[in-house]
Amino acid sequence: MRKKLLALYDDIDRRTHATAEEHAWWPCRRGCDSCCHRLAEIPRLVRAEWELLREGLDALAPNVRVEVDAKIAELAAAEREGRVPRHVVCPLLDEREGACRVYAHRPGACRTYGFYVERGIGLHCGIITEAVAARSPDEEPIVWGNAEGVDYALARLDGAADASAAGVSLTTWALSSSSCSSEVKEPPPPEPGDPSSPSSEM
Ligand code: SF4
Repeated sequence: MRKKLLALYDDIDRRTHATAEEHAWWPCRRGCDSCCHRLAEIPRLVRAEWELLREGLDALAPNVRVEVDAKIAELAAAEREGRVPRHVVCPLLDEREGACRVYAHRPGACRTYGFYVERGIGLHCGIITEAVAARSPDEEPIVWGNAEGVDYALARLDGAADASAAGVSLTTWALSSSSCSSEVKEPPPPEPGDPSSPSSEM
C-alpha cells in the first residue's frame, strides 16, 4: 500500500510542479498558507495516508508535538460538540511560519488542492481564480488534474468501492492511535468505484 501511495503522490507532485513551473504567476508556492487556514472540513485520510502522516508527526520535536496534539484534541472536542467552524484551521499548520509541519508527509488532498478539478469544478481558492482570470490570453492552456481519479486511487488503497466515503477524519485517526503517536488502532471502517486520469483544460 505504501509503495502505491508514494507512487500516487509522486504522480501528483510531478503534475503540480510542472504546472507551477509552466506558469510563473501560479500562486501556490511555499509561504502561501491560505488554504490551510480555511479548510472546508477536517482533513480525511485513508489508512495508508494516515500511516505516512503519522511518521511525520512522530518526527516532530517533542514540544511541537505537544502543541499539535493539543490542537488535534481541541478540534476533536469541537467535532464531538458540533461546533466545528465553517473554516477549519489545520492543526498541522505552523501558523507562525505559515508552513505545514508535516509537508513531506501531507495527505493527497493537500497535494492536489490548487491544481485539480472535480467534475469541471476547480478545487482551489479565490487567489487562483483571480490569477487564472487575469492571465494573458496568449498563454498555454492550463491542464488541470482530475481529482476524481485521485480519490478513486486512494479509495482503492483502502479497498473501498465508494471514493466519496473513503477515509476517516484526521482527528479520528489521531485519537484511535495511542496518545496520538504510536500503534494504529482500528478507526471506524470507511463505507464501501473508477475513472482514472484524463485531465480537463481551461
Ligand atoms: S496537512 Fe499541511 S498542507 Fe495539509 S492542510 Fe494541514 S498544514 Fe496544510
